[in-house]
Amino acid sequence: MTVVGVLALQGDVPEHRAAFGAVVGPGSVHLVRTPLELAKVDALVIPGGESTAISELLDKGGLRRALTERIARGLPVLGTCAGLIVLADRLEPSPGGRDPVSLQALDVTVRRNDYGRQRESFEAGVRIEGMRGDPFPGVFIRAPRILEIGKKARPFAWRDEEVVGVRAGPVWGLTFHPELSGDPRVARAFLAATLPAP
Ligand code: GLN
Repeated sequence: MTVVGVLALQGDVPEHRAAFGAVVGPGSVHLVRTPLELAKVDALVIPGGESTAISELLDKGGLRRALTERIARGLPVLGTCAGLIVLADRLEPSPGGRDPVSLQALDVTVRRNDYGRQRESFEAGVRIEGMRGDPFPGVFIRAPRILEIGKKARPFAWRDEEVVGVRAGPVWGLTFHPELSGDPRVARAFLAATLPAP
């Protein structure tokens, strides 16, 4: 049985659990808070929330090292919003703020909270490579912006001309929240592309 883990340190954990549960069945989605729990999953979702909090809790719970090692061995990871920030190799320093320590898993440069105060949240259609039907309803909440994509990553999702999703092999990062739209296509596409067929 394929087990999808949701990193359950901070952020929209129940929403991801429900979104993946709708695709693989609720019993196949496990919350991950410890290295032992991480060892039992075949793929991991790093949810949106607050990237600095997620980063600090990765260190407190002793998960950072185990996670870095598993990612190096090819663990499929989907990072959404704050999850993407935690994966990104390079962050533009936030003005006067603390920033998370990266897992160094995605060759991109991102800037946090880059859509301005008056537009902290919005919804927009996202075009995703290989996805049929209508544009994916992207929910952007205090979203980061992808400023630069290095050689080891490639874009696969766009809002108009702007890149809002990048991947490096089995590591995917999205600036929006696919778990909030009730549309299972991103969860399905991520699992289909990164896990061996059953
Ligand atoms: N602004 C948050 C951060 O920088 C991310 C927001 C989100 O995940 N919705 O961590």
